[in-house]
This record gives sequence, structure tokens and C-alpha cells, in this order.
Amino acid sequence: MLTGLMQDRPLLISSLIEHAVSCHPQGEIVSRTSEGPIHRCTYGDIHRRAKQLAKALTALGIQPGERVGTLAWNGYRHLELYYGVSGMGAVLHTINPRLFPEQIAYIVNHAADRFLFVDLSFVPLVEKLVDTLPTVHGVVVMTDRAHMPDSAIPGLLCYEDLLGAHDSDYQWPQFDERTASSLCYTSGTTGNPKGVLYSHRSSVLHSWAACAVDGLAVGAGETALLVVPMFHVNAWGMPYAGAMCGAKLVLPGPALDGQSVYQLMRDERVTLALGVPTVWLMLLQYVDTAGVLPREELCLRRVVIGGSSAPRAMSERFANGFGAFVVHAWGMTEMSPLGTVCNLLPKHDGLPLQQRLAVHEKQGRAVYGVDMKIVDDDGVSLPRDGKAAGHLLVRGPWITSGYYRGEGGEILDADGFFDTGDVATIDADAYMQITDRSKDVVKSGGEWISSIAIENAAIGHPAVAEAAVIGTPHAKWQERPLLIVVRKAGHELSRESMLQFLGGRVANWWLPDDVVFVEELPHTATGKLHKLKLREMFSQYRLPTSA
Ligand code: AMP
Repeated sequence: MLTGLMQDRPLLISSLIEHAVSCHPQGEIVSRTSEGPIHRCTYGDIHRRAKQLAKALTALGIQPGERVGTLAWNGYRHLELYYGVSGMGAVLHTINPRLFPEQIAYIVNHAADRFLFVDLSFVPLVEKLVDTLPTVHGVVVMTDRAHMPDSAIPGLLCYEDLLGAHDSDYQWPQFDERTASSLCYTSGTTGNPKGVLYSHRSSVLHSWAACAVDGLAVGAGETALLVVPMFHVNAWGMPYAGAMCGAKLVLPGPALDGQSVYQLMRDERVTLALGVPTVWLMLLQYVDTAGVLPREELCLRRVVIGGSSAPRAMSERFANGFGAFVVHAWGMTEMSPLGTVCNLLPKHDGLPLQQRLAVHEKQGRAVYGVDMKIVDDDGVSLPRDGKAAGHLLVRGPWITSGYYRGEGGEILDADGFFDTGDVATIDADAYMQITDRSKDVVKSGGEWISSIAIENAAIGHPAVAEAAVIGTPHAKWQERPLLIVVRKAGHELSRESMLQFLGGRVANWWLPDDVVFVEELPHTATGKLHKLKLREMFSQYRLPTSA
């Protein structure tokens, strides 16, 4: 082999913010703060303060490779931690504050975090836990002196004081691009959370995929609202991709209700918004009740929806009510998270809306870097015909090779593929569609019924706020679907009219055997339907069709 003669510059996270400063120094970061007011700064400010932070962390004794935890909303100080901690060679451990306190204690201890940086809202939580966190040497509140809370946490530090004690005369160290940069625990529904440890290389490569036109197509002309939290899978890599391309970033802080999100979209002229379906449901409900006019008042062009399936009715609402195009995307914590993005092909140009919406229901095509296949229970590859559904396996340079500290053992097969736990079809144009999590598939008489397909059809009914399908035992068919529905406030809906609505929208033999109505559905810490809990809630339930 002949070695190429190209420079071997490491792909480091610090190079992203350096690039932003050199090419987009005035690129704006707008944050709604925990203290209340809107804060504005530039990539130049973030860079300067991230360097001050790196010096402060060094003075606190943080060594390269050590973990620094954050319990924080989306905001500029969190962004400074993204660059300051990883840039100096330490590991940014973003913690999901919506986890149960015992789970938070477990992951802080498992990660052996040395310091915790926390937003004001999470000080009471840390106060309760701090005695159970022996590796934590100190807690820093991400605020200024004037807002420092009274707290029983010993030696509580103030973020602005820490930064104020250092200048920004600092050179980012150069090191191997495979060095760990950040850590995020998966909120598995069973067992303890497992850590996914990203590297500088994986994060930079992933940013290119995010910026690519057939990825999320983010560029300097974009104003991107990150409703997706910075404590979950690095906010889908957007804090890095934003610096790579100089996009204006809008960070909503703790206010994720429909009205606050709408106001930020309007006031900051947001063109691209990213989030999970549950936050868009809140936004759409606000628009329904507040009498606002998104088409006239906003300049939203695209909404990236991932984390759970984007129902067709939601894409239609954004198209008709906002004039915005839904970009359906799929991925997971283990994949940094980007796997597929649903952009249209030239053959879809000029198609009527309803036909385009049918394409948008799919999770999309793999971005370069993600190698994907579907297999049956015996590991045999299935055809890409849009019909055969199988276990979805992936491999690539931003996909995990194993969990932190070896939890879960060997997780790749002999060819290096990781089983996502999702079941999917892939069609002849390479569009992948998730039909279920493998443990949520309804197995009826040896055939698989997609719970997601029924849920998405049900949500299309104007009286349905949310819907979930679980498999319930059946004497003849082994399992049959049970549909559990939350009605919209003030709407009537009967079992019969729900079933009638679904007839024709899903295959006849997929029609649920029963419909029950509840006040609310359980969700996981990342906003997904909590099917395990639902199955527990309905464990005593017997289908009327099962003798
Ligand atoms: P997490 O690691 O918590 O981000 O969860 C990843 C899982 O969320 C995936 O394995 C899928 O089951 C689910 N998921 C993510 N995006 C989508 C999507 N667009 N449609 C359906 N399920 C999704």
C-alpha cells in the first residue's frame, strides 16, 4: 500500500468553534435563560468564554479524560461547556434531569463525574443527591453571583465567578481525534442506563453529515431553534454542526410550552426547528387555541422531527398551517444520533401534497457514513422491497462499538453491525420505515402488526390527542392490538367511531380488537411513549374478542 500525502490534522471539537470564530464571528447564539431574560452573544463570545472555562477547569484540577457532568437546559453557558470541557480533553457528561433521582445518582457514580455544572432549576435536585455522589468534588451553579441560591451543598461554586477569575489566553491542546469527548446515557426502559461515549472524530464526522444537503442541510443562512435538549444525544449534534456552518442558534432554556416556543420562533425569525413529536403537539395545541397565524407571523421553513415517529397528520399541519416542510429523521443515542433523514428525490418533484406526505411518513434514507440492513430472526438479509420488515442493523464511524465500562458486553456482530432494536422496512429507493421497536411489535398469528402504523393513523382523527397500541394476549391469535387513546379536551369520541375511522386506513386484520380511553399516557424521560409501563398498566386487561 502507498500512504497518501495528505496532512493528518486531527478532527477535534475545538476546531469547530475555531472555524466558527474565523468565518462566522458574528453568528448569533440566542438563549432564553433560567433567570428569565433573553441573552444574546456570538460564536466569538462562546469561544472566548469556553477558553476561560478551560482554564478554570484546569485550575480546579480537572485532568484530560475526566468526566464533567451537566444538569442543564439549552443555553449559552451549556454551549460553553460543550466546547470548554471537550476542547481541553475532558469528557462532557450531559445528564437527563428528567430521569428518576436514583437513576441520576447511578449514572453520575457510574461515570465518576468530578464536577457537576447545574442550572438554577436543578440545584434542589442535586442538594438531595449530593451525599450519595462520592466522586463529585464540587458543584457549580450556572449563573452569576446575584442569582446564587442559598443552598446546603457544601462549597457551592458560581459559574460567572469561576470564569471571571481567568482570561482567555489559552491554546486548545492537540491530541488524538479518537479521544473521548462526551458521554450520554441511554434511558433504556429496562435495566440500568448505559453510557455511550462519543469521540472528537465521531462528533466532527457527524457534524458534516448534519450539514450535508441530504442530511439536515444546515448552513450559515439558517436560524435553528434547538427544542431538542442539549442533555440528550448532544441535541442531535446541532451545537457542533451549528459552529461548523455558522448557523444562528436559538436555545429555548426551560420554557418548552407551546406559547414560549411559538414566541421564540416569531421573535427570532426561526427558519429551522428541531424536536420530538411531543413538543410539536404542545405547539400545535397552542396554535389551535391562541388564534395566532403561523403562516403570516413565522418564517419557519423546515421542522426536523425525530425521536419518535412523525405522524402524517402532524406533517400535514405543518405544511398547511405553517407552510413548513417536515424533515423526518431517525437515529438513536448509540448513533450520535443521525441515521436516516427523509429528504425527497427528484422523482417526487411536483407530486400532490398527499403523495409527498406518504413519503414523509418514512424515516428516510441513510446518510453517508451509516451502513444499514434489515435481517430476519436468523440474521438473513431481507429484500429492500418496502414490505419485508426485519431487525434493523447499522454500522459506521459515529455508531457505538460498546457501552461505557463494558456494560452489556459485546454488542456488535461478526461484521461489526449493531442491532438497533428497531424493526423496519427499506424500499427500493432506500427509504427506511420504522414499524416498531422489536419488543413492541404485536405478534398476531405468526404475522407482525406495526403498533406505530396504527398509532399514526389514530392520531389523524381530529378528536385524538395521543394514541398508543400494545399487544395483548389472545387465545387464538397469541396477541392482538389494543388501542389506548387520550381524547382532545372538549372532544367526544366513541370506541365505534374510532374503529370506523381506522377502517380503510390500516389493513383490516390490523384493526385493534378494542379501544380504551385514558386521561394521559406514560412517557419516558426522553418523551417517548413508555410501552413497558403501559403493558404493566394493562396487564390485567382481557380483550373482549379473546374467549
Ligand atoms: P434514543 O436513544 O433515546 O434517542 O432512542 C432511540 C430510539 O428512538 C430508536 O431506536 C427508535 O426506536 C426511536 N426513534 C428515533 N427516531 C425515530 C423516528 N423518526 N421514528 C420512530 N422511532 C424513532
